Amino acid sequence: MDTLVVLESSRGSLHRLSKEAIAGAKSLGGTVSVLTIGKDADSIAQELSGVQLDEILIVKNEYVESYNADGYAEIVSQVIQSESPKNIVLGHTYQTRDFVPRVSARLDIPFIPDIISLSESSFVKQVLNAKLNASISSTNDQVILSFQSAAFSDESLEAGGSEVRLLNINLDSTIVRSKSEDPFQEEAGDVDLESAEILVSVGRGIEKEENIPIAFELAKVLNAEVSASRPVVDAGWIDSFRQVGSSGSNVAPKLYFSLGVSGAIQHVVGMKGSKSILAINKDPDAPIFEIADYAVIGDVLEIVPKLIEALENS
Ligand SMILES: Cc1cc2nc3c(=O)[nH]c(=O)nc-3n(C[C@H](O)[C@H](O)[C@H](O)COP(=O)(O)OP(=O)(O)OC[C@H]3O[C@@H](n4cnc5c(N)ncnc54)[C@H](O)[C@@H]3O)c2cc1C
Repeated sequence: MDTLVVLESSRGSLHRLSKEAIAGAKSLGGTVSVLTIGKDADSIAQELSGVQLDEILIVKNEYVESYNADGYAEIVSQVIQSESPKNIVLGHTYQTRDFVPRVSARLDIPFIPDIISLSESSFVKQVLNAKLNASISSTNDQVILSFQSAAFSDESLEAGGSEVRLLNINLDSTIVRSKSEDPFQEEAGDVDLESAEILVSVGRGIEKEENIPIAFELAKVLNAEVSASRPVVDAGWIDSFRQVGSSGSNVAPKLYFSLGVSGAIQHVVGMKGSKSILAINKDPDAPIFEIADYAVIGDVLEIVPKLIEALENS
């Protein structure tokens, strides 16, 4: 086996970063198999039935109905030992950060996390607050890699099929010492940022809490959800479940409409997978313009009310 992609489930479906990880694994060349674990394994295998893969490996066990680090570290370690993949690939999610270092330490396989691209035989990741890119290579026969959000596009996945294989892994309470409950979800009402098609995202450029309603008004006419940068959440102007970024949600809407967001790396990693980015900012040098498809240089407080009026009258 050349590459094994360890998949993650998100609300019963395949996590977006896992799909991107499969695309990244394909760029490494050679055969690509995937491993899906837990109670969603069958439905995830079904979701991938139309994708060109070598094999879909399934592990089901009462100890890993939902994610827990002890169980996942044990299962992934055992599968690596039995299947001997050269590369073990994952999306760079919180779950990956939680259990993969244990696998790396246990099997003595280097873990290169948060990769943004491939360059010949090395892996590129951002360092020094994304000011520089570093190329890292490994002399080890095996390597564990995690890919940053939007580093690869799942649109490149070829249609096809694959074999499905059920693996038996023995787990017991001496290995899995904790029992996980269902994944925690904040009380977010009907708000699901990760599947919203349009997001209106508010940054500190909105200036004060009293101006927040204009973002909700714009979202209403665009049939969008409202998200925010961290300072807006920290100030208590918007609920924390709306935060986008490295310590918030990871989103990929068709349109990301940012209002007064500077484009700091911790924000950008959570939204750069957006298909289209429109940014309004009064600073022409704001970093958000480096990734924006449409750049509007100006004051959100002047532009947005006029835009709402124009959209309402159109
Ligand atoms: C460990 C860690 C984790 C973090 N996690 C996150 C995270 O998950 N999400 C996140 O967002 N941040 C996160 N941050 C914070 C991040 O570094 C930035 O500080 C934050 O993203 C900046 O938010 P902002 O763009 O809203 O504010 P600012 O950086 O203050 O930018 C405001 C922007 O608005 C513009 N502006 C001002 N007034 C107007 C106006 N009237 N009209 C138009 N434009 C205007 C300014 O030109 C500026 O570009 C994290 C930081 C750390 C250290």
